[in-house]
Amino acid sequence: MPTDASRIRLILELRRAGIVDATVLAAIESVPRERFIPETFQDQAWEDIALPIGLGQTISQPRVVAMMTEALCVTKRHRVLEIGTGSGYQAAVLAHLCRRLYTIERHPALLARAEEILKALGFTNIVTRAGDGMAGWPELAPFDRILVTAAPRTPPQALLDQLSPAGGIMVIPMGETADSQHLWRITRTGGAFAREKLAAVRFVPLLPGLADDSKGDDGSWGNGSRGGAPR
Ligand code: SAH
Repeated sequence: MPTDASRIRLILELRRAGIVDATVLAAIESVPRERFIPETFQDQAWEDIALPIGLGQTISQPRVVAMMTEALCVTKRHRVLEIGTGSGYQAAVLAHLCRRLYTIERHPALLARAEEILKALGFTNIVTRAGDGMAGWPELAPFDRILVTAAPRTPPQALLDQLSPAGGIMVIPMGETADSQHLWRITRTGGAFAREKLAAVRFVPLLPGLADDSKGDDGSWGNGSRGGAPR
């Protein structure tokens, strides 16, 4: 079981790493990260590292979650779209800060587990969908904020189209290879998109289509899930 000391240590580390937004730090402190992590890694749940969650995917490093969330400038008025639910951890952090959080995952097995945990934690403002996040969620657009947690080479056109023209903000990792990725913030004003390069990061690739989880690794934590290398 994680201790209060491990939580407090992480929050201090995030402050030292330059995270200043008190609402972001409070959200991270209040989401029990251990619930989103397999049994084997429980003792590292509050360390500032990415961890495997099965199906070759990872839960992001807390510092990166904090940095992305802060860069997104979220308020309680916002409807936010997340691409790449994964463990559901980033969704939980965002749901503390926004009005409603919509999240899309291409691995149905990962999504099912994330849904279960988010429900058990009592979230009522999270709406989930299994599908290809590259297409966004056109029926519910526009979104005030879009957070992408897997890396494409260039921003998917559908996501740009679904960003609110009234100052919508998208935070997205992009790069040609895993070694040359950066986090970008794209701000939309009418038809204009302003881009800012933030920090160097390492994300799993944004892949097209819905994944077929019926064969092999089912993403469960009990039977040899593979997991990606921590970034
Ligand atoms: N936000 C997650 C991080 C998950 S890693 C968390 O807090 O745990 C990135 C996730 O993006 C993976 O689960 C991967 O399956 C998913 N992904 C990759 N391409 C996608 C796509 N086109 N649509 C939806 N999800 C995608």
